[in-house]
Amino acid sequence: MSLFALPPIPDVPVKGETEGYPVRRIFCVGRNYAAHAAEMGNEVDREAPFYFTKSPAHLVLSGATLPYPPGTEDYHHEMEFVVALGAPVFRCTPDEGAAAVYGYATGLDMTRRDRQGEAKDKRRPWSLGKDVEGAAVIAEITKAAEFGTVSDQAIRLTVDGETRQDATLTELIHKVPDVIAHLSQYYHLGPGDLIYTGTPAGVGAVTAGSTLEGTVDGLAPVVLTLGDPE
Ligand code: MN
Repeated sequence: MSLFALPPIPDVPVKGETEGYPVRRIFCVGRNYAAHAAEMGNEVDREAPFYFTKSPAHLVLSGATLPYPPGTEDYHHEMEFVVALGAPVFRCTPDEGAAAVYGYATGLDMTRRDRQGEAKDKRRPWSLGKDVEGAAVIAEITKAAEFGTVSDQAIRLTVDGETRQDATLTELIHKVPDVIAHLSQYYHLGPGDLIYTGTPAGVGAVTAGSTLEGTVDGLAPVVLTLGDPE
């Protein structure tokens, strides 16, 4: 018995399954598309990927309406291709990493860009910028076998019907198997681990009343609506 009950973390729906995918951890890759790294004023580091994490308690399912978050005047969308792991891997090869993928989903890495920018300037952690309540949005998972090979699928985001991000998965600098292999040098990865693989160019601010819709060819779209601030 626990002393008190915590709010449940929602299982992610899986296409073709009645049971959902429970989430344990949320890893996010930074600067994984060259054009986005450039728009943020960074050079592309092809040496190794880097990561930040989001609290699983901040996971939200597609279709939600959330208040515009506190503590920001510059809340940004980042449309992402999300990998859901289905088998344990530790210090794995890229081939072993690829074999450990359960499925894929569309997701949004919502970001307080003003807080992230201050953190970068002051060489502080990104938590206030990235680990925002409700800022890890995810849609239904499609199993890897149904999705097929990650290649030139389009990844796009519209805000109130206007296209903001439009790229393809071929533009990923660090490919999915390589990211899993690299991350597995540091973590015992396994079922319940999500990896947000980074965002293409075109990130920008949203406002109260905005509706975001993100798509990747072959996956269910991710939708988020922002209401008025609390
Ligand atoms: Mn991101």
